[in-house]
Amino acid sequence: MPVIAIDMGGTKIKFGIIDDAGKILSVLKLEASPGETTEKNLEKVNESVNKLLLEKDISREQIKAIGIAVPSIVDDNNHVVTRYVKYKDADEFDFNIWAKQHWGLPIVLENDARAALIGEWQYGAGKGYNDIGLLTLGTGVGTAILSQGKLYKGKHFLGGSLGGHTSINFDGDPCNCGFFGCLETEASTWALAGLASRHLLYSNSTLSKIEKLEFIHLFNEVDNGDELARILLDHCLKAWGTAIVNMVHSHDPELIIISGGIMKRQTEMLPFFQKMVDQYAWLPAGTIKIKAALEVDYAGLLGIEYLANSLNK
Ligand SMILES: [Zn+2]
Repeated sequence: MPVIAIDMGGTKIKFGIIDDAGKILSVLKLEASPGETTEKNLEKVNESVNKLLLEKDISREQIKAIGIAVPSIVDDNNHVVTRYVKYKDADEFDFNIWAKQHWGLPIVLENDARAALIGEWQYGAGKGYNDIGLLTLGTGVGTAILSQGKLYKGKHFLGGSLGGHTSINFDGDPCNCGFFGCLETEASTWALAGLASRHLLYSNSTLSKIEKLEFIHLFNEVDNGDELARILLDHCLKAWGTAIVNMVHSHDPELIIISGGIMKRQTEMLPFFQKMVDQYAWLPAGTIKIKAALEVDYAGLLGIEYLANSLNK
């Protein structure tokens, strides 16, 4: 049955009507307003969803459930439990009551990386595998683990989610989470400008002329022969590769899926990661498969559709 699927990212909210088996009937994007209340953000989504339903001639009675992916840690009762809340008041917001009052429907809430992993597992690069690790490389680093066909959650729902805040350098810089040398402080878009500007080669590098440095700039300058760009990309590749080997050792998956905009450079990145895993993981070379995500834009929506359609089954 069709469900209302919503993926609340840090900058954009994607949402749509998605039918069984990941069939996208209609999707839209809105600018997110993380400074506004969760209720306000969802109000905007509601208005647009009502229009989509009209356009597609789908009645509310035909909708089975609502699924929402959020950039936070979520418990099994649809509550945001993280101490880092990207949407104002999301940890105090009652998603169950909201869904009942506005739609009269059951709801499932899940962490965005976990939803993306479910999307890839059911409809993308993870089809046919039941033990998968996912890394989303972007502004931060999101991770999730599927173990024997089930999301790995742990006692406090953090399980598998904090790969971006697992330290890979105990002498490293402080992270925005308060820890030090986290994977995100060593290799993520938010850390990139700082990594570049602190380097001795910075003043002679073309990177010093770029405002709001992102990986796309780094890739371009690597291709233009900039020495610092190459050093930084090698540093980030090694940081991500280290995290992947750590993930293999802690969760023993059969497949690692890499997602995020940075994967536009996948022809260089995937072989690098494969080589590191083959060299360092305690398994025969080639045992662990490493693939790029297939459903980069809609994995979260597709995953939350699957979870919403699995409610009460
Ligand atoms: Zn951290």
